Amino acid sequence: MRKILFFISYIVIATCTFAQTKSLPVDSIPKGYFVTHSRAELMQKFSDLPLGIKVNDSIPAIIQKVEKYLINYQPQKKYPDDVFAKEAVLQAFISFKEGGYGIGAILADSKGKIIFKGHNSQIQKHRSDLHAEMTLLTDFEESPVSKQYLNIYVYNPGLTVYSSAEPCPMCFIRLASARVNTKYCCPGPDDGMANRVDCLPSSWRDLAHKYPCKKDQSSPVLQKISHLMFFSYLLDNRGPK
Ligand SMILES: [Zn+2]
Repeated sequence: MRKILFFISYIVIATCTFAQTKSLPVDSIPKGYFVTHSRAELMQKFSDLPLGIKVNDSIPAIIQKVEKYLINYQPQKKYPDDVFAKEAVLQAFISFKEGGYGIGAILADSKGKIIFKGHNSQIQKHRSDLHAEMTLLTDFEESPVSKQYLNIYVYNPGLTVYSSAEPCPMCFIRLASARVNTKYCCPGPDDGMANRVDCLPSSWRDLAHKYPCKKDQSSPVLQKISHLMFFSYLLDNRGPK
C-alpha cells in the first residue's frame, strides 16, 4: 500500500513539475533587473555575468571583455531569436565602443537572413533622432538594397526588426509607419512603448496592433548584456550635460 501511495505521489509531483517547466516563459528575469540607477549597480551587474568583469575594471577593460564574450557567444537552439539578438547586441556594443549609447538593431528577411544593421548614433553624429531603430530604417531605406524589400516606404511582409532594447515612443511609431514587425531583446520598463500601445491615438493604436512589437525569445545572458549596454552611459556619464 505504501509503495502504491509513494508511486502515485511521484506521478503527481512529476506531472506538476513538468507542467510548471512547460509553462515557464523564456524570459524569467524579474522586470526590476531592467532598470539600473547607478554606476555601482551597473558594475555589480556586469561582474555577476560570465564575462570576467571585475567591479573596478576600467572602460577599456570592460570593452575588451564584452567584445570577446559576444564574438565567441554561440546562439542557443532553445532560444529561437538568439541568432538575431546576438547581432543586435553586437550593434549595441559597437556604439558603446564608439563612445555612443549602447543600443543596436538589425533587419532580417522571412528566411532569417540578416539584410541590414544599425546602431544608435546620437552622440557620434550630434543628432537627436538617431536612435538605433531610426538609424537602421533610415540607412536601409536610403540604400539601393532596400528597393527589393519596400513598397514605396512600406516593408514587405515577413521582414522583422530585432532591436537590442524595447523601442521608445518615437521608434515605435516609426516602425509602425513602416508596417514592419519588431522584436526586442531587453524590456524597458521606464522608457519602452511596446506595453503602452493603448495610450496611442486610435489610428496609431490600430496600426501598431497590426504590426506587433514583441519581446523576443533570447537567452537570459543576452538580455542582461543588452540591458547593461543600454545603461553603459552611466560608466562615464556620456551624453549632454
Ligand atoms: Zn527610440
